[in-house]
Amino acid sequence: MPPAHPFDFDAVDGDTLHEECGVFGMIGVTDAANFVALGLHALQHRGQEAGGIVSYHPEHGFNSARRFGYVRDNFTKQSLMETLPGALAIGHVRYSTAGSKGAQIRDVQPFFGEFSMGGAAIAHNGNITNAEALRRELIERGSIFQSSSDSECIIHLMARSLQRDIPARMEDALRRVEGAFSVVAMTRTKLIGVRDALGVRPLVLGKVGDGWCLSSETCALDIIGAEYVREIEPGEMVVITEKGVESTHPFRSRNSRFCIFEHVYFSRPDSIIGGRSVYETRRQIGVELAREAPIEADLVCPVPDSGTPAAIGYAHESGIPYGMGIIRNQYMGRTFIEPTEQIRNMGVRLKLNVNRALIRGKRVVLVDDSVVRGTTSRKIKEMILDAGAAEVHFRIASPPTAWPCFYGVDTPQREKLLAATMSEDEMCEHLGVDSLKFISLDGLYRAAGESEGRNNSCPQYCDACFSGEYPVEPADMIEKGFKLKAAE
Ligand code: SF4
Repeated sequence: MPPAHPFDFDAVDGDTLHEECGVFGMIGVTDAANFVALGLHALQHRGQEAGGIVSYHPEHGFNSARRFGYVRDNFTKQSLMETLPGALAIGHVRYSTAGSKGAQIRDVQPFFGEFSMGGAAIAHNGNITNAEALRRELIERGSIFQSSSDSECIIHLMARSLQRDIPARMEDALRRVEGAFSVVAMTRTKLIGVRDALGVRPLVLGKVGDGWCLSSETCALDIIGAEYVREIEPGEMVVITEKGVESTHPFRSRNSRFCIFEHVYFSRPDSIIGGRSVYETRRQIGVELAREAPIEADLVCPVPDSGTPAAIGYAHESGIPYGMGIIRNQYMGRTFIEPTEQIRNMGVRLKLNVNRALIRGKRVVLVDDSVVRGTTSRKIKEMILDAGAAEVHFRIASPPTAWPCFYGVDTPQREKLLAATMSEDEMCEHLGVDSLKFISLDGLYRAAGESEGRNNSCPQYCDACFSGEYPVEPADMIEKGFKLKAAE
């Protein structure tokens, strides 16, 4: 019997964007799997459904463990960690976008393949936009898939490559792949990291003692005491052995298109992206928002937690006092209980509560990271008004999310996105708030360090979920009838 599916309190009303995955790899330390478990724990915000670790030991070979639920509930058990010996290990935490929804242990990464030159395991963050076409082709040519994940295509493409070593096979395989990929892989002696040509998803290199690590974010380097070395560049492949790091650029591109939403929401605020503190960028978003959309009010409140730095920036720039008008229950993550209808109906109250004493009688500016379907925003507004607020003004730290993401973030279908069907004024009326303003795309770019704003002829980031300009055409989705902006 499959295990009970975890009930995601964070997505209780399907109104939250989810990063699909986090990856971490380690080489050159005793019991590398322990380091990987810690790294994955720090990356848990990137995926809470399941996690997995593969390790290699010269006497014990490759070993793997894949589990549902939090890293802390699985990969802290000595009995499990003892089954993952060796100085080389990689791991993965997942939510799930590509592949089947729901609990399937076969979809949990890393994936492992045995090749003529030895085994290899891979962990992928991102989304392959031509995965369905590749899968059809591979199945026709005899590949037997074990999972429904798009990432498994990489292993099968590697198996079919005629190259003589695994890094070269990986390079071969990834040349066929379109979309976003930050991949961490391992052989018996090598830790490999690769980023797609546009560098949509993050990947960084760290060093601890004689060991090296690769991670989705720098916050996972901090937890193991590793020193941040640098980002893996867009289109770069690094192969790390006892001798050090070898770098090549097999997927070179003219410009990078890093996901700008990593700055707004996905990455942890204590991570560094492109040399910039995520916290500082978010605070600066609040500053820009206050300049673009000022309002007379008595109190600035974040919708916790991701709205917090932007609210601090908004309050600072506007001079309006800052306060914690909404308190988040920090323990309301995922849990393995089956929710009753009654629990489900409690919706957002399960994780957020209003600080009535602070809110009563005030004109409140609520700063949130995004509006997806709008259901959560409506409920929060009701809670604030019930608590006696005189006015509610929403300020949103991202532009209207009007397009789905096909590069590793779980977004609803386009027609379910509030901004896809309504203007800003219509959204304001629909949410029933006194005012609603989003940061402009230029304002967001400025906050992210682009002082001139967005370069419209050659955008510096991927911002497709706001602009509808997809840096890589989502081939599978177009085949299924998705219409690009130009075709509307
Ligand atoms: S579409 Fe949006 S969420 Fe997806 S990669 Fe681009 S900016 Fe990030």
